[in-house]
Amino acid sequence: MLDDTLTATSFAPDAADASLPDRAQVVIVGGGVAGSSIAYHLAAIGITDVVLLERATIASGTSWHAAGLVARVRGSHPMTELSSYGVDLYRGLEEDTGVDVNFRPTGSLTLAETEDRLQELRYTAAIARHHGINARLLEPSEVPDIWSLASPDGLVGALHQPGDGTVNPGYAALALAKGAHDSGVAIREGVSVRGILTDGRTVVGVHTDRGDVETETAVLACGLWTRDLAATVGVPVALYAAEHVHVSTDPIEGVHDLLPLMRGLDGYFYARHHAGGLMIGAFELDGRPRPTDSIPDDWAFGEFGPDWEHFAPVRANAERRIPALKDANFTRFLRAPESFTPDSNFCLGEAAELRNLYVAAGFNSQGIIYGPGAGRALAEWIREGAPTFDASEVDVRRFASSQANEHYLHERTREALGRLYALHWPNLQAATARDVRRSPLYERLTAAGACFGELAQWERANWFAPPGVEPVDRYSFGRQNWFPYVAEEHAAAREAVTLFDLTSFAKIEAIGSDALRLLQHVCTNDVDVPVGKVVYTLFLNRRGGIENDGTITRLGEDRFLVITPTSTQHRTLEWLRSYGQGMTVTIADVTSASATLAVMGPRSRQLLSRLTSTNLSNDGFPYFTSKEIQVHNAPALAIRASFVGELGWELYVPSEFAVHIYDAIVDAGADLGFRHAGYQALDSLRIEKGFVHVGHDVGPTDDPFTAGLGHVVKLDKEFVGVEAARVAKETTRPRRLVSLKLDEPDPILLHGESVIADGRIVGAVMSGAYAHTLGAAASLAMVEASVVSDEESTVEVDLAGRMVKGTISTRAFYDPSGSRMRA
Ligand SMILES: Cc1cc2nc3c(=O)[nH]c(=O)nc-3n(C[C@H](O)[C@H](O)[C@H](O)COP(=O)(O)OP(=O)(O)OC[C@H]3O[C@@H](n4cnc5c(N)ncnc54)[C@H](O)[C@@H]3O)c2cc1C
Repeated sequence: MLDDTLTATSFAPDAADASLPDRAQVVIVGGGVAGSSIAYHLAAIGITDVVLLERATIASGTSWHAAGLVARVRGSHPMTELSSYGVDLYRGLEEDTGVDVNFRPTGSLTLAETEDRLQELRYTAAIARHHGINARLLEPSEVPDIWSLASPDGLVGALHQPGDGTVNPGYAALALAKGAHDSGVAIREGVSVRGILTDGRTVVGVHTDRGDVETETAVLACGLWTRDLAATVGVPVALYAAEHVHVSTDPIEGVHDLLPLMRGLDGYFYARHHAGGLMIGAFELDGRPRPTDSIPDDWAFGEFGPDWEHFAPVRANAERRIPALKDANFTRFLRAPESFTPDSNFCLGEAAELRNLYVAAGFNSQGIIYGPGAGRALAEWIREGAPTFDASEVDVRRFASSQANEHYLHERTREALGRLYALHWPNLQAATARDVRRSPLYERLTAAGACFGELAQWERANWFAPPGVEPVDRYSFGRQNWFPYVAEEHAAAREAVTLFDLTSFAKIEAIGSDALRLLQHVCTNDVDVPVGKVVYTLFLNRRGGIENDGTITRLGEDRFLVITPTSTQHRTLEWLRSYGQGMTVTIADVTSASATLAVMGPRSRQLLSRLTSTNLSNDGFPYFTSKEIQVHNAPALAIRASFVGELGWELYVPSEFAVHIYDAIVDAGADLGFRHAGYQALDSLRIEKGFVHVGHDVGPTDDPFTAGLGHVVKLDKEFVGVEAARVAKETTRPRRLVSLKLDEPDPILLHGESVIADGRIVGAVMSGAYAHTLGAAASLAMVEASVVSDEESTVEVDLAGRMVKGTISTRAFYDPSGSRMRA
């Protein structure tokens, strides 16, 4: 970091033996904080046959630029665990490695200028409480007690977190590399990796400017250059560089090296001590993306040079809050690239397309914070072959492959910096690079008043505005503007009939004489069923954790349709291809071939009967079966299934017929109380029915029995993860997924709220929504098994500091006689 930065000559651990090893168990590409941390943590778990290749010197990429702010509390529980671990590690790193990382336990002060921001800080404080991290809300008048140079004018509150701090980022990376090296990891600087060697299926080595290194596992931790290197082997990594800036002043009286780091979120700046003066950093709203080809390959310790004009608005905000800055002498302007992702979370884990190719990159200006935790998590992931922490938010496979498109990333990255300090509203949608991926019904739904949200580039109708109401989200931490309209959509699904456009579902066909063998091998449920039958299944990893879920429809003896959630298209496809290697089976992605029109509600049979001659009675068309039918003048594959807990059919309609069938459904439903419904209603309906959303409620570290999904796991057959699942079945489980309902009608639930029983925090809300049928907010919650019984029991829920009574149950609160989880 700046003047006390390390230089190119400060680390040459293997200078005496600079030859390139022929092979290693693991090759790490990139010696920034991420690569160094992975090396350190691999060594810590006993994997030392590792070589780290850095084309320049350790920390010469982005890591040395960082301001070195490290924080404990993040927006979710898994990320808080990861970042808090980092602070603890930095504290003891000098003792461990002999390298002084200049850790200063300054604490932090986060300022709120609006009531909404203060509410966000209350949520932050609640997450801190959940993890036993010290955090205290302050009155504006208390701010100068902690930051004597700060003006309290215009503040409505602040959050003091004494456990945060600062570190010298370059030395942090250096210390981690040194620790790894001391434990036996080989580090080679001045070696540039030019390509990844594969056998078409898995990594077999890396190609460098100094020869090849054979390996079974390669890790791409090459910062903003990761996307390009991964692309050489067809692996899409959705990250893109943007300029990031901080400036420093001469010494200022009153500044010392234990001055808490300040986050002026509403002013898009941060401030920290630096060499007796202040360093001010910017998270401006109008970020500046940088194409990789504008950053030369030999960019060691590079900078773009000053641009005071672009910095001026943020500087003005900082001067308003810290008046002493007006007279300060600014001595240093550091402008450098950092990589950002479309959803502001980093990319971690094994690539879907190539076995044993791991990625740790795209840190969204939080690589120093997350470096230690990400390194630990990835090291364990490599050893175990599956994540050992809930990586759902950061899993590199969460993006659609189309999201690695350079133009799309360039546009999206404009808002990436500002997004980090902007208010993190519930349901917040990106403003840039929208309208990329649309259902054939998009125009019709727009005309019907749809307000769209984005997932994996798809535009999906979240809710429908009635005539005269603008279909625009108005964000708040309470009930948002769509609340009453979603209540009506919800009621229509329970009492009449609704249409959901679920076209974004991933649809993949497995065809061939080994299709059944493949699916039996990857599915927990038995899919050897009669043609026309539909099966709900989980897909487990080798540790028995839930990677994914979906339905399998047997279309023929040797032909199956696999339907999985939108954001899993890419990984499902590659998962099936990978396990299908060597088998006589074709895996075809047919997502774009059809639209999915879900007609849901008690009158769905009546509506569809007007459009088809097919017998839709319970006997003629039982639950979880499928048929090719004719709907009005067009064909559709009809599947009787429902994610809302009512009678309903999903129609898979060849894309060119989709609008025709849509029009027919809307006309036929006119006198039946028909309504369009969107994803907000879908979520509230499935939550009150207790249907699990994999990725939100459970993930790769949860076994099926904890999730209440043991009934779809057939332990008498062999499948991926079965050994672990057998053990899990016999093991006492510490946690259970339960349904939770608030006892008061007004508050809402989001996610992550602590659940309290007997005065103790016993769990957290996984996904929350307003359960309109129940007249209260509800959720699925993961809680300690010891507080769960066959009867309903009373708990409290921490709603950003307000304790509200609630009830938990192993059964759904809506229709408790039905299967609690999707059958
Ligand atoms: C101005 C600024 C301020 C910041 N402040 C903070 C902060 O306060 N807190 C925080 O947490 N984060 C901060 N960050 C972000 C943080 O610096 C990054 O997230 C982090 O350093 C990324 O680390 P990395 O290891 O992924 O990438 P890098 O540090 O860029 O490391 C990647 C390495 O890979 C090497 N490499 C690339 N290609 C190859 C190849 N083909 N062969 C061999 N080697 C290769 C590069 O030379 C480089 O050394 C800041 C960033 C900037 C720019």
